Amino acid sequence: MDTKSERIIIFDTTLRDGEQCPGATLNIDEKLTIAKQLARLGVDIIEAGFAFASPGDFEAVSRIAETVGTSDGPVICSLARARHEDIKSAADAIKAAAKQRIHTFIATSDIHLEYKLKKTRSEVLSITGEMVSYAKSFTDDIEFSPEDAARSEPKFLYQVLEQAIAAGATTINIPDTVGYTTPSEFGALIKGIKDNVPNIDQAIISVHGHNDLGLAVANFLEAVKNGARQLECTINGIGERAGNAALEELVMALHVRRQYFNPFLGRPTNSEEPLTNIDTQQIYKTSRLVSNLTGLLVQPNKAIVGTNAFAHESGIHQDGVLKNKRTYEIMDAQLIGLNTNKIVLGKHSGRNAFRTRLKELGFELSENDLNKAFVRFKEVGDKKKEITDWDLEALVNDEIQQAPDLFRLELVQVSCGDRSRPTATVTLRNPDGKELTDAAIGTGPVDAVYKAINRVINVPNQLIEFSVQSVTAGIDAIGEVTIRLQYEERVFSGHSANTDIIVASAQAYVNALNRLYAALVNQQKQQQVGGGV
Ligand SMILES: [Zn+2]
Repeated sequence: MDTKSERIIIFDTTLRDGEQCPGATLNIDEKLTIAKQLARLGVDIIEAGFAFASPGDFEAVSRIAETVGTSDGPVICSLARARHEDIKSAADAIKAAAKQRIHTFIATSDIHLEYKLKKTRSEVLSITGEMVSYAKSFTDDIEFSPEDAARSEPKFLYQVLEQAIAAGATTINIPDTVGYTTPSEFGALIKGIKDNVPNIDQAIISVHGHNDLGLAVANFLEAVKNGARQLECTINGIGERAGNAALEELVMALHVRRQYFNPFLGRPTNSEEPLTNIDTQQIYKTSRLVSNLTGLLVQPNKAIVGTNAFAHESGIHQDGVLKNKRTYEIMDAQLIGLNTNKIVLGKHSGRNAFRTRLKELGFELSENDLNKAFVRFKEVGDKKKEITDWDLEALVNDEIQQAPDLFRLELVQVSCGDRSRPTATVTLRNPDGKELTDAAIGTGPVDAVYKAINRVINVPNQLIEFSVQSVTAGIDAIGEVTIRLQYEERVFSGHSANTDIIVASAQAYVNALNRLYAALVNQQKQQQVGGGV
């Protein structure tokens, strides 16, 4: 596409780098749901995973390639270390996509060469050429990353990049793997690459970075001023440690300040053409979806998508905003799709209206899932008069999260109050279809429910986070419960939505335990390969 050369390319790595953070583990259906939403958001490239890492990763990348990698959809990419078996696996996994990219990487900093790779600079140089050529034998679109570029010796970095481009890399990505650089340093690094790599005009410069010092977005914007044209980012900035650069912050900075960035892209200062292909109206919805499915909550004061990002609490501000929005608002909440929460359905709405609205919201459910979701919808309709888009999303996401093959919550019943000891009874259906019932006493109703569930499922774990949020305002609102639990070194999350928060709490816990249980079952089957930029 011609217009793309004048636009900033958005490369989303929520499903690869984002998913690498503790507790964010997603199952294949959840990954597909996110990938479909990323396509609606308009990202140019989806890095769907690291195909060689495990059979589960391979399957997720292939399913995304098949389903989301249509000719008018995004490019589907898989990460691969600079090794034959990794690259082959990436190529196989993305085969079904109309537009395919292999992203291969090797470290170039002395500290990584000496301690991690145990290779000399000349060995790294020849591996780069050889592996990029090998990747090129599968597809034309090749991205190459020199891992830990920000700490690599510039002269050697230029040589490696020249070699990669000569061997066929069409995008060269500069990662700040450890989140160490600052805006002016990173800008200078990009400028140095532009000035010193002889064949640089044959490739697009991309940036990748982590937020350990809270500078990832600022670093990227400085890189754009110096010639970077692709940004690797994640929804809500999720990712290893402090996370990646946040997509929504980058996109909105480039939108709100488009006149400032225009000259750097070689456009007239007053050009109003968008700088990215992102449909900003999909931002809020995408943020909620990723937060719900990963169990990683968004902090209230988070830029763009935090619940307070558009709230004006102080009297002076409120007065100003009422007189003219522009007094204290640099962007309209509507731009990110925040004000589109309409009351759409009521208790008497029929199946067709339900199906139609879900379709408009981007959910295409199988007949079976639609039936299940409709039953839930009717249950909620009995308790809550007006059902909004966000309620619908909460319900459907909740249905998607169910893991029907494992434990299923059949009943939860609680008695509590200031004169009684909180007591809970639960019934669960186990993977063999057998119903198991148990009861327990706790310090509160949720504690009692969790103790009762533990008596049935019997997998030791520690609850490390429990949070309740309401989807919309009002006493009859749907409550969303997100929990995170720890088993040995690993963290598993669970999420559920219900008008009854005790039921939501029980379901969220069962969801997290199902993931833990599935991981235990798969442990012998899957050997995870680590690494990444
Ligand atoms: Zn990374």
